[in-house]
Parts: sequence; C-alpha cells; structure tokens
Amino acid sequence: MNGQRIGRMLLLGFLLFGDRAGLVAARAASDPADEAMSQIRPEAIRADMRFLADDLLEGRGPGTRGHEIAARFVAARFEADGLEPAGDNGTYFQFIPFRSFHPDEKQTSLTLVRGGKEETLVFRRDFITYRQTTRKETSVEAPVVYVGYGITAPDQAYDDYQGIDAKGKIVAFLYGAPAKFESTMRAHYSFRTLKAANAVAHGAVGFFYLHTPDQEHIYSFADQMHEMAFSDFHWLNPDGIPGDDFEQLRGYSILSLDGVSKLLAGSGKTPEELFLAAKESKTASFILPVTARIHVVDHTEDLRSPNVVARLRGSDPALRDEYVVLTAHSDHLGIGDPVDGDNIYNGAIDDASGTACLIEIAKAFSGMSPRPRRSILFVSTTAEEKGMLGSDYFAHYPTVPRDSIVADVDIDGEPGLWPMEDVILFGSGHSTLDLSAKEAARRMGLDVTADPWPEQGEFVRQDGYSFVRQGVPTIEPDVGIKSSDPQIKPREIAEFWNDHIYHTPKDDMKQKFDFEASVKYAQFNFLLGYLLAQNTERPAWNPGDFFGETYGKKK
Ligand SMILES: [Zn+2]
Repeated sequence: MNGQRIGRMLLLGFLLFGDRAGLVAARAASDPADEAMSQIRPEAIRADMRFLADDLLEGRGPGTRGHEIAARFVAARFEADGLEPAGDNGTYFQFIPFRSFHPDEKQTSLTLVRGGKEETLVFRRDFITYRQTTRKETSVEAPVVYVGYGITAPDQAYDDYQGIDAKGKIVAFLYGAPAKFESTMRAHYSFRTLKAANAVAHGAVGFFYLHTPDQEHIYSFADQMHEMAFSDFHWLNPDGIPGDDFEQLRGYSILSLDGVSKLLAGSGKTPEELFLAAKESKTASFILPVTARIHVVDHTEDLRSPNVVARLRGSDPALRDEYVVLTAHSDHLGIGDPVDGDNIYNGAIDDASGTACLIEIAKAFSGMSPRPRRSILFVSTTAEEKGMLGSDYFAHYPTVPRDSIVADVDIDGEPGLWPMEDVILFGSGHSTLDLSAKEAARRMGLDVTADPWPEQGEFVRQDGYSFVRQGVPTIEPDVGIKSSDPQIKPREIAEFWNDHIYHTPKDDMKQKFDFEASVKYAQFNFLLGYLLAQNTERPAWNPGDFFGETYGKKK
C-alpha cells in the first residue's frame, strides 16, 4: 500500500463508518472471505518455513529422505485441517516414477571438426550436458547450423528457421527469445522443451544451447555447473515411457561463452555480432563451417517422488465437481557443492515460503462456513526444480477428471523480504483469471505491477505453466516491487537476491524476512482462489487467445 492510498482509504473509512474498525467490521460482515483471510498468521508461516528449510531436511531434493519428510509434513497439515485425500488410492500422495541421470564426465565428449582438423572441447570449461534423453548413451556427428533463438512463432511473424535446412543437422541457438515479444509470449517461446520440439520438427538431430551475456546475468554457466551436482530428471508415464523425450535428438549440450567462441571460429561472424542481432530481434541464421561430434554417457537411476494432493469439497452442488487448483512446490535442490562451507540448499524462499503459504491458505479455506462454491484442490508439487516435472505429471495425469480443473493459482518463491504494496501477475493477459486477480488486488489495496523482468521468462519457470500446456489457465502471483518507504528498495533487493542468493545454500532461514508481507501474499492467493471458486462463470481463455487456441482444445 503506498502512502497516498493509505490516506485515501482512511479518509473513506472515516467518512463511511467513522473509524477504521468500523470499516473492517462492515467488510467482514459482507464476505466470509475477509474473516477467513484474517486467520492467516505470520507465526504459522514462519514456523512451517522453519521446519521445511531446516538442515535436517537436507534441501528437500526429490527422491531423497528430506523431501519425503517434507511431503509427509504437508500431508499431515492437510489431514489436520480436515481436507480429504485426493492423491492415488485414497491417499494424499501421487507417487511419480522418475528416471534420474547424471553425466559421466570422463566418457562424455564434444569435438569440433573444421577443415579436417579436430578440436576437443573441455567439459565444464567449454560445455556441459544436461537433460539428456532417457537413454544411457547417445552419439551424433553432424554439420552445425546457427538458428538465432531457435524459434518458430507464426503468431509473432517470426521464424529463425526460415531459409535454413536443419534436416540431419545439429542446430545451435541462443538462450531466450526476442525482446519485441510481449512478456508472456517471450517467456513461452524461450521454454527449452518447445525449442527442442521445434528443432525436431525441422529435422535436427541434436542441439547446442549457446550462452549469451544476458543469460550469464539471468543464470550463468557457473550456476549451471553448480547445479550439475544435482541429477536431471524425466518423469515416466504409467507405461514407463518418459515425457518430453525426443528420440530424434541424439546429443545436446550447453556451450559457455568460451565454447560459443570456439564454435564460431572461422565462420566469419563473432559472438558479439550474433548477440547484437538477436537483441534487436533480427533473425540471422546461417550454416557454420563445422561438424560436431557429441558423445554423451549418463548414469541413470529409477526412483519415485510424490506430489501431495488434498481436496476441500465445494458447497454448491452445481459447481462442486469443478476444481480451482492451488500449487506450490515442496522440493528444492538438495545437497550440492559447498558455498562458503555450506552444502545444504535449504530453499527457504524457494519454495518453503510458498509451501507454508499453501498450508495456511488450506487452513483458512477449511475453516470457512459456508465453504466456497467450487471445490479447491491443493497440490504440493515435487521436482519443480527439475523443470516443473511434478506439476507437469499432475497436469498430464490429474487425480481428478482433467476437464473438471478450471484454473491454477501457483505460489512460488514468495520473497517476503520487504513490505508488500503491489502484486505481479505472471501469466496474466490471456484469460478471465485477470478479472478475479485484479478484483483481489483491489480489495486488498494492492497495485498490480507489470512484469519488471521480461528477460527472465518467469512465467515458464513456475508450475502454473505446466497447467497452461494442458489447456488450463493460470496466474502466478508474485510479491511486487513497490515501496512507499524510500529506505526500502524492493527492486534492488530482488535483483541482489536473484544474483547472489537464488539457488545457493544462502536461501535459508538466516535471511531477514518480513512475515507480514508473507501473510499479505498468502491472503492475496487465498482471495484469488476464493473468487475463482465463487464466480458462477467458469474461468476461460480470452477469445482467440494464443494459449487457448494452442492448448485449450486439449481438454
Ligand atoms: Zn527454484
């Protein structure tokens, strides 16, 4: 709430009711949501966060004992609140089969062949591999073509593959998407699975992800190397077949800025020229005078890890078979490379905070009388840090009829590091969920702020996006960046956090939290879920919306 607005509201309260208590009382009487929201307490969020981010849970890596304990804890909270189990076989759990894989660095190699001369690139300096297919060993040798961002977007009249024959080639593309795309679309087209699918559609047999100076700022090569301490995952469907596995792709790797220079040597183009053209949203694809040989060997392991799913049955017989889903991920990275002597990646903000909020929101809903009209489904997801896999699996194989899911509200990485005065609505601009989100913001006196970091692609880095790709509209609310106190600079705090704390062992309970902000954030998500459950009109994609047209028909 900014200073000006507080003044206005107090004045309004005084004029209408004579005092502020009167204002609150009048609102409580008018809507049971206000009473339920007031039950959300900072101590409760703090306590649950403290438990989930404790060193004893060892960073909650999916498939580890620490995460299993976290999942049991969430289920216990749901059970205590009287929510029904809505996982598999009458339990609170949906156990997902995963295959994990970890590169064998000694046996993995990348060689460039140019004019008969071979150059061997160095693992961890020039390249790394990741999210390999589910095969233990793959090899490919093919000419390389550069394809800008690797994006084909007819709706944006943009095609990096135009005039390029990628059949049988290894395609090399940059992280990200053109800056001229609107924030949600930019995030969508930067999504790695979409880029892989597009490469396959153009006949490619492998790909290189090329680091850029911008990507170094968003998520550096060094950060990605750190993350190699944690295995990559694929989920397996009930028949044991992995999701998002592209048979045609027989090798892919990520090149560092050094690796990019080596790949481009002798091509007549410098990395800087390519980065600049891409920054200006110009396509500039061409054939590189080089053949690459990629050989990847992985260690694999099959394991399982649970989503936790609980239901609050709605009160309206006409609407109770429809579900508003609320998601937050219970997993984090686990135990990895030490930073300043600490090797436990506690994930306090990411996403013990969101999980604590989800638990409090569930509690607030469970105490309501009457209950919301639609049913509410609370899904505490696993393997979000592996690429939103728990939510992706749930969206593919929901434990309630898929057609009954009307919306998802995703609660991730709530930065309770400054007082909350506004909200950012990732995923907005595409469905009628915006109306409810704006209504919730208005009722809480929060401003709505446009995505301040479109280059980050936040929308496709949260569980909500898994639902979008199965045709379900989502909003992913985040604490905003406004401050009426000139001493508090949320944008600077957020950017510092992103550069130095995000996905490190420093995201722990030693941070200075503002739990009142956490409460406000939880209340906002509660209210949004409540409004979506109350509206007679089912949430819908906007007419002709890209996501509605592309994915909405799946349902
Ligand atoms: Zn994360």
